[in-house]
Amino acid sequence: MRAMALEEPGRPLTARELPDPEPGPGQLRLRVRACGVCRTDVHIRDGELTTATRPIVPGHQIVGVVERGGAGTSTAPGARVGVPWLGWTCGECRFCRSGRENLCEHARFTGLDIPGGFAELTVADERFCFALPDGYADLAVAPLLCAGLIGHRALRMTGDARRLGLYGFGAAAHIVTQVAVHEGREVHAFTRAGDEPAQRFARELGCSWAGDAARPGPEPLDAAIIFAPAGELVPAALRACERGGVVVCAGIHMSDIPSFPYEILWGERQLRSVANLTRADGVDFLALAPRAGVRTSVTSYPLERAEDALDAIRTGCIEGAAVVVP
Ligand SMILES: [Zn+2]
Ligand SMILES: [Zn+2]
Repeated sequence: MRAMALEEPGRPLTARELPDPEPGPGQLRLRVRACGVCRTDVHIRDGELTTATRPIVPGHQIVGVVERGGAGTSTAPGARVGVPWLGWTCGECRFCRSGRENLCEHARFTGLDIPGGFAELTVADERFCFALPDGYADLAVAPLLCAGLIGHRALRMTGDARRLGLYGFGAAAHIVTQVAVHEGREVHAFTRAGDEPAQRFARELGCSWAGDAARPGPEPLDAAIIFAPAGELVPAALRACERGGVVVCAGIHMSDIPSFPYEILWGERQLRSVANLTRADGVDFLALAPRAGVRTSVTSYPLERAEDALDAIRTGCIEGAAVVVP
């Protein structure tokens, strides 16, 4: 099969011809229809997240059609499924046993520890695959599998915050905005200074204000979610929040957070991160997205141009989500 593989962190992905993967017990072999590209893939490519598996095929927002299943599987060939970042958990550690499998001590992640979807074929543990909502084309549904899912988990962590700020307006924010507006929240988009296209895109999706992330918005926020991997946004978001507000860091990697005066945390403001997903998050969100009328804006790249997709995310030169198509 054709695949794009990372051989050396910090170096471009390379086109490889790899053996077709065989499904083991409990696994499905999938023909990949589309695979969303996530900022996490950029961090893996750039060596900001380390992997022991090399070469590794990245990609963890996989839309695939079942070709066949290994021993013990029951999904019929021809079924369309989605494969997310959480590829395997132990089921036995204290996190798995308390409904927090996203924090599993032995978790294995798709496209980091196990081969992902930048390929014509992949195999996935059937227990971690999701049924996908009808009514979304393959390309359109792919970004729901991480941008949407992680965005949704981050949004839940803001409780019933009425006025919500989103820092970094990429794939996740463009989906979260639609869900938040559907829930009756007011959304403010904070982008890089002067990023007029992103600010216009944010307003089109229902944000009531869009502007420069370095400065506070027009009114205090009840909560903020930071999607951009820039540590200096943490004090900026705390400053933008009202007393009692929560700041959620939703990315897997961030540059160092500069020190800040205690007074911007004082007043029962909270600062927390969101890590990975549980299968329950996936089931909830994939049911909610069609009800909320979520539509994704997608730019597709042929498999061999996966590096261009990563570049577009790294530089922010993309509206909505990037998806590779084998
Ligand atoms: Zn992701
Ligand atoms: Zn576990």
